[in-house]
Amino acid sequence: MNYLSTRGHPDRKRFCEILLEGLAPDGGLYLPEHYPQVDTATLARWRSLPYAELAFEILSLYIDDIPPADLKAICARTYTPAVFGTEEIVPLRELEDGVYLEALSSGPTLAFKDMAMQLLGNLFEYELARRGAELNILGATSGDTGSAAEYAMRGKKGVRVFMTSPDGRMSPFQQAQMFSLQDENIHNIAITGVFDDCQDIVKAVSNDLGFKRKYRIGTVNSINWARLLAQVVYYFAGYFQATAANDKPVSFTVPSGNFGNVCAGHVARMMGLPIQTLVVATNENDVLDEFFRTGIYRVRAAVDTHETSSPSMDISKASNFERFIFDLVGRDAARLRALFVEELGGQGRFDLSADAAFGEAAQRFGFKSSRSTHADRLATIRDTDKRFATLVDPHTADGLKAAREHLVAGVPMVVLETALPIKFAATLVEALGHEPERPARFEGIEALPKRVVKLPADVEAVKAYIAQNCD
Ligand SMILES: *Cc1c(COP(=O)(O)O)cnc(C)c1O
Repeated sequence: MNYLSTRGHPDRKRFCEILLEGLAPDGGLYLPEHYPQVDTATLARWRSLPYAELAFEILSLYIDDIPPADLKAICARTYTPAVFGTEEIVPLRELEDGVYLEALSSGPTLAFKDMAMQLLGNLFEYELARRGAELNILGATSGDTGSAAEYAMRGKKGVRVFMTSPDGRMSPFQQAQMFSLQDENIHNIAITGVFDDCQDIVKAVSNDLGFKRKYRIGTVNSINWARLLAQVVYYFAGYFQATAANDKPVSFTVPSGNFGNVCAGHVARMMGLPIQTLVVATNENDVLDEFFRTGIYRVRAAVDTHETSSPSMDISKASNFERFIFDLVGRDAARLRALFVEELGGQGRFDLSADAAFGEAAQRFGFKSSRSTHADRLATIRDTDKRFATLVDPHTADGLKAAREHLVAGVPMVVLETALPIKFAATLVEALGHEPERPARFEGIEALPKRVVKLPADVEAVKAYIAQNCD
């Protein structure tokens, strides 16, 4: 399998070449040259496989530069009941007639990002050992991504993590999750500033090509193809649990921010998994909902990005969206470049409302969308507690609300649960008046010793810290 760039760069690459890279050299995103097709006989064979073996089957279609036995071993040690809490790994439960919740957040950091990041940690360790190389991952986090990356990379050979976060601005639980890690290769850097300062520092360091090369700086952001690929697996696993046979359509609703999660659903659908509808659920930051309703994609400025109670969906621009638009415009790289480089780069928007392609987003690709507010989240959390004795986190609540707006009789609707309520306790308290239950392994983590350095919002200070800690 070869990978190409959405912006038309002539080079073709193999999986392990793009594994440790971010964007393609022309600023595009990597995609496979084609989507392997899965027929009904294959679906029938996959239906009964344990999760790790299903992951191996799907990954094998996209990865041909890791020997199969090694890839199988990597999947087997990633997706274990010990790490993800159950035999099923992503158990499905019916909430009410036709509406299901697929549990994706029982991993080490209690958010669905573990599903991909845990695999990435093992793939990185494997590939770096094979090359005799090292990688220093530099990131900025306001919560979920940073902790998922740290728990995936802790103790891994050849990898160090330098994770910046805005000092004092994460929830006490999120801080405790990250800062209590005592592993030598994990470095928490609390920056005196806000999240944008952290992101600016990461950008500035990455733009210093000399420093980047010398200290082998890499990232694990959501545009990484391996992360997206790992997420394709749980659409198949959800489908098999929601149906008894492979001729029945299923729809999915996905709480969305950077469009990584739902883009994996798009890939599964392109492979031939019988997905009827992919519902994109957004909060007040509704760039994606606006596009699917109107055909206009209009990115927001930082000041127009709302701070909401589903903060992992607070985005002004969806970094993985370019992958879907590439397919929507028939993989025409020149067209894609005109939209993303000229129009979006120039005016901060593009408009497909008068284009035949826009109609295909719903018709041919099955996309629909909805938007929720803080009041909707509180109402959904209360209603789900009252009627089903089930607590959902604010992101999953956005999903449930959207799902109900797109139900079709006879078609199971699977809502992806993207985090556990304990991660967003303040909103649960606001809705219900009490704290959600905390898994036993997180009892008292706020009191554990913390491993974190405090640095000013200054690029040179962060560079100096990295240099000192990369012997
Ligand atoms: C990251 C995240 C999302 C958004 O996922 P995308 O892949 O960026 O669309 C939604 N909910 C939670 C809890 C998250 O951590």
